Amino acid sequence: MWKAIKDAIAKVLPMTISIHPAVDSGVQINDTAGFSGGTLTCKCGSNPVVVNISSQTAHNHVCGCSKCWKPEGATFSQIAVVSKDNLSVGENADKLFIIDESAAIQRHACRDCGVHMYGRIEDANHPFYALDFVHTELSREKGWSPPEFAAFVSSIIEAGTPPEQMNAIRERLHELGLEPYDCLSPPLMDAIATHVYNQSKAAG
Ligand SMILES: [Zn+2]
Ligand SMILES: [Zn+2]
Repeated sequence: MWKAIKDAIAKVLPMTISIHPAVDSGVQINDTAGFSGGTLTCKCGSNPVVVNISSQTAHNHVCGCSKCWKPEGATFSQIAVVSKDNLSVGENADKLFIIDESAAIQRHACRDCGVHMYGRIEDANHPFYALDFVHTELSREKGWSPPEFAAFVSSIIEAGTPPEQMNAIRERLHELGLEPYDCLSPPLMDAIATHVYNQSKAAG
């Protein structure tokens, strides 16, 4: 009964859904010229984990998968990549643990507040090896590359979004200029396929 009412309301008021706080009032176009990084801080009130990034991020996007960390109430996470050589843990590294050691992306989270500080790919054969995944909303600095698209949009259903809301959510993503994809963006999917081709060629 309550679910039916909730679903009915959601159909009428789909825009009460938060995509992500960083984009809900429009994607902020920062002055990114000359921006060369900053610090990410977890949500702990004392002894927070601090991660230093010494470059601009790339491929920033909102992600609908169930694995990425997202703030309370958000339907999508916001995530970008940076070369792992440009990322280091500055403070309280001992509070970090890996969410799932068997996952392709090893997400290093704060054990006290649960925020994911960076996701690292340890498999040298992975298409995205040498990249770390980061949430730039954890930084106070302005100038990070803005989100460019929405990835794994259909996956939000797996986390409980009613399928009836999907049209409205995709419309909202379009409105925000975040092209919705049910996998990654075409350039990233092409990069993965190119990697697979080159590996099979190398294997003869
Ligand atoms: Zn924390
Ligand atoms: Zn994700």
